Amino acid sequence: MTEISARRDLSTLEIPTDAWTKPFWDATAEGRLLLPQCGACHTFRWPPGPFCPACRSQHTQWQPAGQGLIYSFTIIRAKDQPPTVPALIEFPEAGNIRLIAAIVDTSLDAIVIGAKVKQNWAKAGDTNVPVFTI
Ligand SMILES: [Zn+2]
Repeated sequence: MTEISARRDLSTLEIPTDAWTKPFWDATAEGRLLLPQCGACHTFRWPPGPFCPACRSQHTQWQPAGQGLIYSFTIIRAKDQPPTVPALIEFPEAGNIRLIAAIVDTSLDAIVIGAKVKQNWAKAGDTNVPVFTI
């Protein structure tokens, strides 16, 4: 029997933001996944923060994440619950930034290291949380 990874209801989750994370969540609210890049030396950085770790510049420009790949994942099983699959999704076009996100609505057999993922969203408060399918 093929099992399918669960999609959790996050609709009541409130996402706290600050000046550094607000552009990320504003973009996800519009269905866009953008990642922060230094406007001076072009180093991508995660999590968003006030200074570039490479050159200490405070200038940030937000770039499309590009194609995501599964870097790592685990399958969590609990009694009487469908399996959940938290993963590290890597973005080679954005400095290999890795986001922690759920792989949802996907056959567990298809979830492998290096697989290309498709962007999807889970509604959360006033925005969307990125989730992925295969
Ligand atoms: Zn920099």
